[in-house]
Amino acid sequence: MKCFKCGRQAVASFRQIGSLCENHFLELIEKRVRKDMRTKRLIRKNDRILLINNESKEYHTGYYLLKRIIKDLPVKIETRKTSNLAASSKKHNKIIIPWSLDDEAEEFLNMVFSKKKPKKFSKKTIKLLKNVTEEEIEIFAKIKKFKCRKQAKPRIKKMLDELEKRYPGYKFSLLNSIKQMKELK
Ligand SMILES: [Zn+2]
Repeated sequence: MKCFKCGRQAVASFRQIGSLCENHFLELIEKRVRKDMRTKRLIRKNDRILLINNESKEYHTGYYLLKRIIKDLPVKIETRKTSNLAASSKKHNKIIIPWSLDDEAEEFLNMVFSKKKPKKFSKKTIKLLKNVTEEEIEIFAKIKKFKCRKQAKPRIKKMLDELEKRYPGYKFSLLNSIKQMKELK
C-alpha cells in the first residue's frame, strides 16, 4: 500500500480518498479539525480554555492539534487531570473534552436503544475531535508517539467497529445522521 500523494509507505487507507503516508495522514486529520474549528468559530481571541486530561489518545491528540491550529492566537490554555468529562470550571469560558466520533455515536446509540440519557456537559464544552474516528486518533497518537492510557472499549463501540469493517464509511454516515437529527430537534 503506497500513499497516493507521494508514493511513500501508507499507514491508513480511506475509501473515498485512497491510501496515505504518515505525513499526509496527519495533514488530513489536522485539516479536518481545522475546518470544523473555523466554520463553527470554536476558538476566539482571549478565550480561556480548559482541556480535560484523562490521559487518553483523544486528550493528547486534541491538545497537539489545538496548539498547532491556534498558533499565535492570544488564548490561555490550561489542562486538568481528571476522568470526569463533565467537570466544570468558572475560570474558563471553553472546555475541551476528549471525545471522538465513536463517543458521539456510542452516546447516540445508547440513547436510542437503551434509553440512556446522554451525559450532561456544560454549554462551554467543545468536542474538538468529534469528526475523527477512534481508529484515526489511534494512528495519529501512534505516529506522534504520545504516551496514552489504554481504555477499555464498551460493547457498542466494538459493534461500531464491526459495522465499519463491513461497510466502510459507516461511522461517518452515522455521524451525519446524528447531526441532522440534532438539528431537527
Ligand atoms: Zn504521502
